[in-house]
Amino acid sequence: MTVRPGKIVCVGRNYAAHAQEMGNPIPERPLLFLKPPSAVIGDGDPIVVPAASRQVEHEAEIAVVIGRRLRRGSEREARAAVRAVACLNDVTARDLQKTDGQWTRAKGFDTFCPIGVAVEVGPDFDFAALEIMGRVNGAVRQHGHARDLIFPIPHLLAYISAVMTLEPGDVVATGTPEGVGPLIAGDVVEVEIPGVGLLRNPVAAEPA
Ligand code: MG
Repeated sequence: MTVRPGKIVCVGRNYAAHAQEMGNPIPERPLLFLKPPSAVIGDGDPIVVPAASRQVEHEAEIAVVIGRRLRRGSEREARAAVRAVACLNDVTARDLQKTDGQWTRAKGFDTFCPIGVAVEVGPDFDFAALEIMGRVNGAVRQHGHARDLIFPIPHLLAYISAVMTLEPGDVVATGTPEGVGPLIAGDVVEVEIPGVGLLRNPVAAEPA
């Protein structure tokens, strides 16, 4: 299924090794932010590096697609609310993330949210068994396991649903493992979740 989310809720610093590589402490609770639906592109669509940034980076992530409305849900209800799993690239203008003080611009440029084709999962799906890979021009840059998430997926969804109602079609991006790095025009970046799918996007410069 093609993903067209109403909102995209993201989690920062959800793998200890990635928090450390960025010089950040391990969070005591999930660190939430939003990406706009206007940033979404699909498999094969180009990621456009904006002229405003000199440091655009990939963040390979496991995303889940909500299938059933979830408000103040338990972890068990959260599991049942997931419809599908997809590859997501939380493309980030790292320089702007640092200078802006909050992340809306750095994470929100058009094309900064590639999402792959979502694969439906059943109610007994083992989220902790998922793996996530990030490659640039065929070279592996990121390789993480959902079992290493500081806040596991059902916990995240329950936590988010106590803040904002998750609606069918909404997407939750669960954080990136260590190994984030630069993207430049001409690169091809891939996010793969073995058993789920592969998301491949070329990187292009902003037209003058
Ligand atoms: Mg991220």
